[in-house]
Amino acid sequence: MTRVHNFSAGPAALPEPVLQQAAAEMLDWHGSGMSVMEMSHRGPQFMTILDEALALFRELLDVPAAYRVLFMQGGALGSNAFVPMNLLGDKTSIDFIDTGEWSKKTIAEAHKYAAVNLAASSAASGYTTIPPRESWLLDPAAAYVHLCANETIGGVEWHTTPDVGSVPLVADVSSTILSRPLDVSRFGLIYGGAQKNIGPAGLTIVVVHESLLGRALPITPSAFDFRVLADNGSMYNTPPTYAIYIAGLVFNWIKAQGGLPAMERRNAEKAALLYDTLDASSLFSNMVDKACRSRMNVTFKTPDPRLDTAFVAGADARGLVQLKGHRVVGGMRASIYNAMPLEGVQALVNYIKEFEAQHR
Ligand code: PMP
Repeated sequence: MTRVHNFSAGPAALPEPVLQQAAAEMLDWHGSGMSVMEMSHRGPQFMTILDEALALFRELLDVPAAYRVLFMQGGALGSNAFVPMNLLGDKTSIDFIDTGEWSKKTIAEAHKYAAVNLAASSAASGYTTIPPRESWLLDPAAAYVHLCANETIGGVEWHTTPDVGSVPLVADVSSTILSRPLDVSRFGLIYGGAQKNIGPAGLTIVVVHESLLGRALPITPSAFDFRVLADNGSMYNTPPTYAIYIAGLVFNWIKAQGGLPAMERRNAEKAALLYDTLDASSLFSNMVDKACRSRMNVTFKTPDPRLDTAFVAGADARGLVQLKGHRVVGGMRASIYNAMPLEGVQALVNYIKEFEAQHR
């Protein structure tokens, strides 16, 4: 068996010990004689799995007591619909900070439910930066202010949480959640898909302040009404059971590694190694402002798309896979989430240097 270094943006690499444990427990989970996939979601075995996963998640992220954690379905793009449905209440508009492709998708969806106020955008820069806080035109009457904590396609990440006054702050944290500590109390709500740092696709996590529950528009499907999900302990409908089980194993793995401070140290080290290599290169470059470079998704390119194609093919041949950049921006993208070991980034850095020496 050969395992590659997988730089996929998501669904992404998982920690190997997690996959091994899942394989060992596949046919018989803890003497139950069943796979987790075959269990009733309301049976005692799965309830234990769910309760442990929820408790570990709260512990890792240090979620304050006034917040409810929902394990649900729908993904981040689904959330782009059901977050406004749940939070608008009697308000009619939402403020957006637009920092790239995923922000744009969120904004496009919001138009269906509310008036959109584009409070700030970095489109003019080619989405290589985050608009400075002084330039934002926030509306005090907005239902909430939305930002994308990490633009997975462009490789732009917020490294601080902005102050937006008394209007709740909402963030799409799909590609940063559990990669570093986060002060949840600064947000009204955070949401994201699990398939980057947490587990398989299919699980969507919402962390919401209790005061924002109970405002859902009447058209909100019950299975996506946060109040209903919170009242039913994420069990109003059948939750994505196997994805929750794997997420629980990942939470245990993160805890054993030293929790989110340890993840942050490692992720910062991996990202620095890669960005330093790109900065020292005369062939490859990263276009993002240094202050908001992503630690999760490192984007880079050569001046010639044909060289980019050759780079990706050569990487593939060495077991450094899924490095092709998103089709919207081209070039390359190395996604280096929690499960990517330092050795994987070291192998990529060695290849970048070799490729440059050959194509100078
Ligand atoms: N937002 C961000 C920041 C993402 O990275 C992604 C997935 N790459 C999405 C939204 C879309 O998520 P999903 O496909 O789970 O709906």
